[in-house]
Amino acid sequence: MLRALAREIDGLDLPAVEKISESSQEDPFQILIGTLLSARTQDATTAAASARLFAKAPTPAAMATLTVKQIEKLIYPVSFYRHKAKHVKETCRILLDKFGGVVPGTMEELLTLPGVGRKTANLVLILAFESRKNICVDTHVHRISNRLGWVKTKSPDETEHALYKATDRRWWPTINLYLVTWGQNVCRPVYPRCGECAIARWCPRLGVTKTGK
Ligand code: SF4
Repeated sequence: MLRALAREIDGLDLPAVEKISESSQEDPFQILIGTLLSARTQDATTAAASARLFAKAPTPAAMATLTVKQIEKLIYPVSFYRHKAKHVKETCRILLDKFGGVVPGTMEELLTLPGVGRKTANLVLILAFESRKNICVDTHVHRISNRLGWVKTKSPDETEHALYKATDRRWWPTINLYLVTWGQNVCRPVYPRCGECAIARWCPRLGVTKTGK
């Protein structure tokens, strides 16, 4: 099924943080900040806000010279932009004070940064540090894994731990890319396009009551 998805997503629009990763040559700082900005925000908005922010401040040292208000203005209209601006500013201070101005490469250290949960930490470890032992679970991965019957869980964190048992580890680094892309284009939160879905033959569609086109 994942092999079929790998073929199907070829040519579809990549998630915003994947694009940031590509355009920054896997820069850990830009991947971290881009992921923070992306929470509950449309991809196009995340991409535009990240581009404005990194044009002014591509490094923790440069970002630390900006005020929270300046960061707010640059990232508006991402959701919770005031909170996120504070987190970005505080994250840069901690990176400079505790980590020598670089993004740390372990889950434990990443989780000490403000606003960073397992989703963000896993994505940074996968995209910036080429980890092959992490799965990044956001709402798309959580929803689709449950619809497919791979897991039966109530939260993304629960899904992450269940997926380590339910999937072959060679797919772990790419599950996020495949399912987020599929979730944005086909297996949408409401009215999934089951009639046009390349993996429909394997999918029990658990919890799906209405489909769309
Ligand atoms: S068949 Fe429907 S529910 Fe299943 S993966 Fe495809 S779009 Fe999602």
